[in-house]
Amino acid sequence: MPRFIRARCLLAGAMTMALAAPALPAAAAPLDAAAARGAIDAQLDRIYPALDALYKDIHQHPEVGFQETRTAALLAARMRQIGFTVTEHVGQTGVVAVYRNGDGPVVMVRTELDGLPLEEKTGLPYASHYQQTIDGKLTPTDHACGHDSHMTWWVGTAQTLLAMKDKWHGTLVFIGQPAEEKIGGAKAMLADGLFTRFPKPDYAFAAHVTPDVAGHVVVKQGTVSSASDSVIVTFHGQGAHGSMPDKSIDPIVMGAHFVDDVQTVISRQKDPQKFGVITVGAFNAGFAPNIIPDTAVLKLTLRSYDADVRKLLLDGVDTTARAVATMAHADAPDVAHTEGTASVINDPALAARLAGVLQSALGDGHVALVPATMPGGTASEDYSEFVNAGVPQSVFFAVGGSDPAMLARLKSEGKPVPVNHSPFFAPQPEPAIRTGVETLVLAVLGVAGN
Ligand SMILES: [Zn+2]
Ligand SMILES: [Zn+2]
Repeated sequence: MPRFIRARCLLAGAMTMALAAPALPAAAAPLDAAAARGAIDAQLDRIYPALDALYKDIHQHPEVGFQETRTAALLAARMRQIGFTVTEHVGQTGVVAVYRNGDGPVVMVRTELDGLPLEEKTGLPYASHYQQTIDGKLTPTDHACGHDSHMTWWVGTAQTLLAMKDKWHGTLVFIGQPAEEKIGGAKAMLADGLFTRFPKPDYAFAAHVTPDVAGHVVVKQGTVSSASDSVIVTFHGQGAHGSMPDKSIDPIVMGAHFVDDVQTVISRQKDPQKFGVITVGAFNAGFAPNIIPDTAVLKLTLRSYDADVRKLLLDGVDTTARAVATMAHADAPDVAHTEGTASVINDPALAARLAGVLQSALGDGHVALVPATMPGGTASEDYSEFVNAGVPQSVFFAVGGSDPAMLARLKSEGKPVPVNHSPFFAPQPEPAIRTGVETLVLAVLGVAGN
């Protein structure tokens, strides 16, 4: 999500807006939310030490997309231990855990499994020093997006719901999704029969930890996150000696023109009232000062909310790349749309109802409902793939994880708050995990409670 701008999966925009969000409507909770919270917290008091140990284990062993073999095995074993029927290797490294508790709705709860190729710099005693081989190179890995929190509250939610199984009825489908960061794990699970081999959800929930104050929950109606598309543009030039540019077709110059010109798609072609971002995040060409290389490879991320803006950006990248190559008398570039996912949209009515439940349980000032008329965050999430595959109602929550004292100190010093994907991102484990469990258990009880 947010800060947001570079993090893929935050609710940044929603979080920021929460400060200005209107007061919640009176809760129309179908369950005694305060009593439910009491039961959840009593269970959390019993299991928290084990959850803390699980969190720190996962935090110290981050695995990147489709390489989450240790993580998946750990979660699968834990869910079997709790009493779920577990299937592994769904969509490569995905995990599906099912628990049937009589007639009632099928409720899906999703966590991501993956970390990021990044070196952690938090200095925490349980910081990651783990490395994985990525593209043939040993690379430090970090749960800088907070998916370690999500896995921990996913296990805690499962355990708590089973301890309270006289309070609800239906079928739980808990899924551990691989490769959220590279956008591809949700599609892989669906292609491997997630909704045909296992019960298809009537409701689905997920939550993301954010840099907001620990213990605060934001519930957004409507658009939560942006559509995300990755595009790789390869310019084909003609290599030559650096002293003889007239004998070359310089792909670095083509790439430089492209980086500049493509921003006019945003500034001159897109409706300025509509959200859209084009970022060139990688520009790789050449290796020596006196050699003009053959090719330049640029990697882009595109973000949008509306389908029409999404198409405008994709078409604009393609047109600009071709025009730049034509001007340089080069062969046509390769423009590959390597991955993409649509916006996450929360069901407005269910979001409002569950925000009421959460407010009743967690208390005033701990829950913000952000209306659909406000924009979502600029980051993206392939959780949308599950919703768009036919889940009737879904809500994606944002759970704050930052120490309020740290936030106050950084504010007084005029320093930025470390956000998701920062090597300094360090949510407070206990309040984030407890609030995540409370939020997800209350969401399930809100749709499957007796
Ligand atoms: Zn994330
Ligand atoms: Zn992320």
